[in-house]
Amino acid sequence: MLLNSSPERLQPFVDEETQRIARVTLWVSAAAFILLIAIGARAWLAGHGTYGQTLMLLAIPMGINLIDFSFNRNSFRSRCVVLSTVAVLFCVLVATGGENNTGPLWLYVFPPLVFYLTGPLAGCLLALVCLGMTVVIFRFPELPLVTADYSVDFQLRFLLTLLFETVFCFVLDFSRRQTRTQLLEVARLFEYAARTDELTKLANRREMRAQLTKELARHERNEHPFSVVLIDVDFFKRINDQFGHEAGDQVLVEFAELLESLCRKADVASRWGGEEFLVLLPDTSLLQALILAERLRASTEAKTFVYGDRSFSITISAGVCSVAQHNTLESLLNQADHNLYEAKSQGRNRIFPRVKPSQPQPDGTAPNPGDSET
Ligand code: GH3
Ligand code: MG
Ligand code: MG
Repeated sequence: MLLNSSPERLQPFVDEETQRIARVTLWVSAAAFILLIAIGARAWLAGHGTYGQTLMLLAIPMGINLIDFSFNRNSFRSRCVVLSTVAVLFCVLVATGGENNTGPLWLYVFPPLVFYLTGPLAGCLLALVCLGMTVVIFRFPELPLVTADYSVDFQLRFLLTLLFETVFCFVLDFSRRQTRTQLLEVARLFEYAARTDELTKLANRREMRAQLTKELARHERNEHPFSVVLIDVDFFKRINDQFGHEAGDQVLVEFAELLESLCRKADVASRWGGEEFLVLLPDTSLLQALILAERLRASTEAKTFVYGDRSFSITISAGVCSVAQHNTLESLLNQADHNLYEAKSQGRNRIFPRVKPSQPQPDGTAPNPGDSET
């Protein structure tokens, strides 16, 4: 498995923002509910019967929204209810003038709220619709339900300041969202770099440890077998000495590609360090792992590496180990390391434990289970 940069690993941050918006919507609903009841009651008692009743009527959808969201957690529906109720409320405030013609001042709350809850485009649209309605109410005071009387000076200043606020909210929200996207992109790159070996693009040691820990936990839960193959390039120092460090790097990259091509999608190949590679083979018995390791050994031996006008070949040794007799990661890795050491000390270019070549399967490749030596 070659590592991809995975957006799903950053999903928690995106989810958290969605939850934060849902929380704000809830708080707005609660605050609006209390304010509408309180201001409505006060206006009613002060003799502004219709106005007070209208405010208290508008508290109903806010209250229902609170209950609905608590049960269904539908953030989109909740936002729609809040925004449409607030829009209606603002039209009422502009049309009636609220108390002493101060109602329109509440409209300044609308642009930041609408941009935060929706986004730059929907925010613009909704804010402009609200501005348009205000213009209509100002322009046609004879419309039914319009009882307020504003001076032309007030109308002009109010519309201009509201327009300015809308534009400014758009700019702020747009740049906030742009910065957020850039930050997520940077986080994605860092997250990818933290898991990947820069040279070979395989998983690095840290990522491999994380995958091994996960696989061991899975094994403890469900007894799924898994195996590991620890590979070391033989006499790699000589390649560096004879052809140069760059040639050595190229060999590591090409070997990683060969390793990748022989692994299944579910396997995790990693650069364990220097010229050592560790492969995790989920749902794989020791024997199956030995077969893969042997195939890799043979393919590596057969491959010709070309650097400039010179060509050469390399060999590998590998220690293979299955989780079966190990209950900690350290003991599994120690065994793999020990087996690699055995392969090296038995002459290199080999796999340990050794698969007896005397009993091939009918297809000529796979020996029988139990034919390996530990
Ligand atoms: P053995 O068969 O016993 O494994 O011999 P070896 O030469 O492969 O092992 P040794 O540990 O003596 O040398 C490993 C070499 O790998 C030394 C080090 O410079 C080289 N090496 C480690 N990482 C890199 C790398 O990223 N690029 C290159 N070009 N060389 C590296
Ligand atoms: Mg080594
Ligand atoms: Mg080596």
